[in-house]
Amino acid sequence: MKAKKAFAALLAAALLTVSSISVSAVDLNVPAKDVINVEKIDFNNPGFIRGMDVSSVISLENAGVTFKNESGEEHDIFSILAQNGVNYIRVRVWNDPFDSSGSGYGGGNNDLNTAKLIGKRAADNGMKLLVDLHYSDFWADPAKQKAPKAWADFSVAQKQSALYDYTLNSLNEIKVAGADIGMVQIGNETTTGIAGVSDFNDVYKLFSAGAKAVRDFDKNVLVALHFTNPEKTSTIKWFADYLSQKRVDYDVFATSYYPSWHGSLNNLTDVFNYVSGTYGKYTMVAETSYPFTLDDTDGHGNTISKWNNNTDENMLWDFSTQGQADEVRAVMNAVNNVNNGKGLGVFYWEGAWITVGDTTGKSGSAWTRQYNKNKALWESYGCGWASSYSAEYDPDDAGQYFGGSAVDNQAFFGADGKALPSLHVFKNVITGSMDIDVLPGDANGDGVVSIKDVTSVQRFLSEYEEPSDECRLAADVNRNCVLSINDVTAIQRYLAEYDIELL
Ligand code: CA
Repeated sequence: MKAKKAFAALLAAALLTVSSISVSAVDLNVPAKDVINVEKIDFNNPGFIRGMDVSSVISLENAGVTFKNESGEEHDIFSILAQNGVNYIRVRVWNDPFDSSGSGYGGGNNDLNTAKLIGKRAADNGMKLLVDLHYSDFWADPAKQKAPKAWADFSVAQKQSALYDYTLNSLNEIKVAGADIGMVQIGNETTTGIAGVSDFNDVYKLFSAGAKAVRDFDKNVLVALHFTNPEKTSTIKWFADYLSQKRVDYDVFATSYYPSWHGSLNNLTDVFNYVSGTYGKYTMVAETSYPFTLDDTDGHGNTISKWNNNTDENMLWDFSTQGQADEVRAVMNAVNNVNNGKGLGVFYWEGAWITVGDTTGKSGSAWTRQYNKNKALWESYGCGWASSYSAEYDPDDAGQYFGGSAVDNQAFFGADGKALPSLHVFKNVITGSMDIDVLPGDANGDGVVSIKDVTSVQRFLSEYEEPSDECRLAADVNRNCVLSINDVTAIQRYLAEYDIELL
């Protein structure tokens, strides 16, 4: 009993010395012990992006939401993300997401000031920023690419000039606020155009104006263009060919990948291989997500639910935290499989857009009371996907169907704000992880820790013996995912202390 305690203390001391996980030259040859199983990925690109979009968090915090680690301790969400292996943050920026009386359209009210706050907190926790400029006052996607109010009457030439100025000014402000900008998106899901321009005889001029602004801001910052529907192979090829013919200056060809809509992962790798193989561009998934449950927690229906989008043949994984981690790992693997290290990374979309008030288990008037409370918060703080105030700008969609989060079941945090174990996937893709029980130090698997285990670890190290996964985990007593002489020393120290206890 005493010996066990001493060992636990030793282990705790060793764990404290483990620094944050990053891709390194060290061969991480032991999987982490974890409730989430993740097979490690041998990344071809050492800087592989394991990113997350958390654009809504400032509005959620304003509405009173707090984020906690898995033990339930409140921390800055950016530190929780960084400690779990997230290395890049993405933030959307709308030019002016407010109506004529100054009320926010919702969706996080993501203006330039919000991007500054998020960029600074990301940088404070060692994470770079991808600035996702929509060039619209609200959501830009294949169905909508509406120009900002201030640009409504502009000609294409005037938009080019306005877009250049807006890009350069915004990036300078975000940088001054303390962000570490690594990449900039010229438009969001620009499959049907950008900033109210849908004629592709003109669209490229706006891409080029934005790209020039990024180059003038900082030559080391990557320029990304973002499309959708990788399942339509010919469409993706058309865009890549178009950008080349029009001599658009960019670095990263990105797409969204939502498994319910966007085909197989093998197809994703194939279309990325075309783009990188033909034009030498980096490729990236700018958005993906997957539900850990089909249940809703805020009273606003979810995009993937018991009734919606859960049966497609590419929804391959369980609706559980393990399944969510599996999806992230699979998408990262598909991007990593792009030839010549041209797979740059993956961003998870809105991994923290949780409920502002849990409706779980409530029914009848209790449910209605909670829903009405949530609705008031979405309206006041803009923390739902859209508020009623968006009607002025987007009367037909947001103005009709405004409400809460449609992705609270795809976050890495529960309704109580506590991190889910699936969040570990962002570091476990580096080390691998396994959910098996082992006695730390029992490297030969005979159920006790003894001098024989010291010999066993030495044999593993000298490659006399290939350990089983269980023995490898047990031998890595300092849990740093590397077997080394330090593990041998740790077991020897434990045995020495054990002897002293006996005396
Ligand atoms: Ca919801």
